[in-house]
Amino acid sequence: MQIQNIPSVLQSQREFFNAYLTRDLDFRIEQLKTLRKAILAYEDQLYEAFRTDLGKSKFEVYETEIGLVLEEAGRHIHKLHQWAKPLKTGTNQVLHFWSKSRIYKEPFGLVLIMAPWNYPFQLLINPLIGAVSAGNCVALKPSELTPAIAGVMEEMITRFFDPRYISIFNGDVETSKALLREKWDHIFFTGSPAVGRIVMESAARNLSPVVLELGGKSPCVVDADADLKVAASRITWGKFLNSGQTCIAPDYLFVHTSVKDELLRLMSNKIIQYFSAHPKESSDYPRIVSEEKTQRLAAFLGQGKVICGGEVNIHDRYIAPTILDGIGPGDPVMQEEIFGPILPVMEFSDIEEVIRFINSNPKPLALYYFSEDKARQDAFIAKTSSGGACINDVITHIANPNLPFGGVGNSGMGQYHGQFSFDTFSHHRSVLSKSTRVDIPVRYPPYKGKFRLLKMLLR
Ligand code: NAD
Repeated sequence: MQIQNIPSVLQSQREFFNAYLTRDLDFRIEQLKTLRKAILAYEDQLYEAFRTDLGKSKFEVYETEIGLVLEEAGRHIHKLHQWAKPLKTGTNQVLHFWSKSRIYKEPFGLVLIMAPWNYPFQLLINPLIGAVSAGNCVALKPSELTPAIAGVMEEMITRFFDPRYISIFNGDVETSKALLREKWDHIFFTGSPAVGRIVMESAARNLSPVVLELGGKSPCVVDADADLKVAASRITWGKFLNSGQTCIAPDYLFVHTSVKDELLRLMSNKIIQYFSAHPKESSDYPRIVSEEKTQRLAAFLGQGKVICGGEVNIHDRYIAPTILDGIGPGDPVMQEEIFGPILPVMEFSDIEEVIRFINSNPKPLALYYFSEDKARQDAFIAKTSSGGACINDVITHIANPNLPFGGVGNSGMGQYHGQFSFDTFSHHRSVLSKSTRVDIPVRYPPYKGKFRLLKMLLR
């Protein structure tokens, strides 16, 4: 859909929404089934497009994009009737005699979903599932930095869905800006904190509610008593998945001095085990999204001591899986989200220093702690804050739909996945329904002689 069509498409979407079709739960379930069918029909084209834009393997595409989305759609199809039931809640019968109270989940109306480029499919389609399941009409804005994938998604959506119901606008930042000038009933944005601020300012003009799924630096801490072999396997996997272009990737490593050398040795071996001694040749190791972003990452490589990796090929958008030791909090690599396959390492001898450092920085999207001691694990969680966290693992909290996914503070606001998505895209409407058989007159004026009774009732 072209930028100049935005106002007319939105007008037709509003009319479609006002015809009440999306209020019907069976209609929504049919649409979710259609979405599953559409994804399966375009599965092969998606694999190809991912190879073009990000050099990503079929396994990783299914693991982190397609499989995740199919599973989410299946969950909404099975659970929607249960989630959408009005929720009965208690009513104080002294204050509200002969009343019932219910919370209805109703759709907002027109929803805008904007996605980034790093997981360009699931970060657009996963929120779409929540928006559809909650009964909204949706406009989608894929990232312009992954054009092959955006092209396949545009073809898929326009072939399978009525544009009055779900529309998709491919285009550059001007398209994003034009969309943000419109009036939305809800905006769901995934991207950088800088653009998140722009989105929130635009939303404020119409008092549109927003969910902001942002990023930042997610710390990973390995304590002296951690299981180092397991930590090395999991951290190496999580850091270099999608070549480090993951919002919840461990951004940097804090490791206890007593185990640092051993952990870094194990991690260097893991890199070879996962991607061979020549990761450039491995079909399992993705590329950076653009030459410009490869150049930005390459500039970090002059800092600290390279423990492994360090090779760069700008034209091939390649940065080797790299571990940088001897980094301090003041180094440039510690000043911004890395968002690439470079892991700076700092060491500590007192965990309280680490906690102070984390708490003196913006609240991260994710936080990871490795230790075998339950009391230390509990203390670490209790003394810090982040969107989500894992103990003795990285990334995997995102893959449990019973856990809400989202940020806090600088890493965002609002949450989704599973039932949390349905709730996020629904207005929770309170309805108190009262019998007319009895009408107790205490609340009506004149109030003379009723004050003591009021104080007895409300305290
Ligand atoms: P981005 O903020 O640059 O772009 C995201 C979207 O915003 C794109 O669709 C783009 O068209 C639009 N946009 C860009 N500039 C704009 C402007 N000036 N006005 C209006 N719209 C504009 O983010 P990105 O580079 O695509 O993604 C990287 C960031 O996203 C990282 O910070 C990462 O941590 C974060 N991220 C967060 C999550 C999460 O779930 N919390 C997931 C993935 C990525």
